[in-house]
Amino acid sequence: RPLVVAIDGPSGSGKSSVSKEVARRLHLAYLDTGAMYRALTWFCVTSGIDLSDAAAVEQAARDLVLDVSTTPLEEYVRVDGTDVTDAIREPVISAAVSAVATTLGARTELIRRQRALIEKHHRRMVVEGRDITTVVAPGAEVRMLLTASEEARLRRRGIQLGGTQNTEQLAAQVTLRDAKDSTVVNFTQAADGVVTLDSSELDFAKTVDAALVI
Ligand code: C5P
Repeated sequence: RPLVVAIDGPSGSGKSSVSKEVARRLHLAYLDTGAMYRALTWFCVTSGIDLSDAAAVEQAARDLVLDVSTTPLEEYVRVDGTDVTDAIREPVISAAVSAVATTLGARTELIRRQRALIEKHHRRMVVEGRDITTVVAPGAEVRMLLTASEEARLRRRGIQLGGTQNTEQLAAQVTLRDAKDSTVVNFTQAADGVVTLDSSELDFAKTVDAALVI
């Protein structure tokens, strides 16, 4: 029986930890599509590809030899055999990822791969990102938009990054990335049939419980 759980939301909405926990509890595969955009960005940056050259970024998406984990129990991302699990979380990649993700030809290629991974797992998967409920898997059995107030999102980001950068810098970076991403993907408003879950006032366990009853 297919069970695709599509979860979209902005950065800091808590979507990754919630998605992973939902996958664990329901014994489903798990795909972090953001990690795929980050891996492509890492590949472009380390290959010296000009991110404003759409044709080159699109070609890089086709050339990318990507191996991303599809289980919530283990997180890894490899590009051409190189482990980039940590490297793709570096600020330099976060700052560049929107330029890659707004290249439509590159999106087409990554979306194709995401759909293939869903099929490979017999449509039993939690898939998280920005355009899963609307573009990648609009036919998903469960479609959810996880939101949180700007304050709650920044608070979470601050905790994630270990407080090494000051809050103002952080706020500016996250807001800028969401603004750039929003130019190609709408992840701030739920599409028809998509359930919105506001996690601002919920702790992790309560958010997961709320997601599981949808
Ligand atoms: O989820 P995460 O913050 O790691 O995503 C990194 C970036 O990947 C986003 O800022 C966005 O540019 C891109 N992304 C996307 N579509 C998705 C998932 C991520 O454009 N489905």
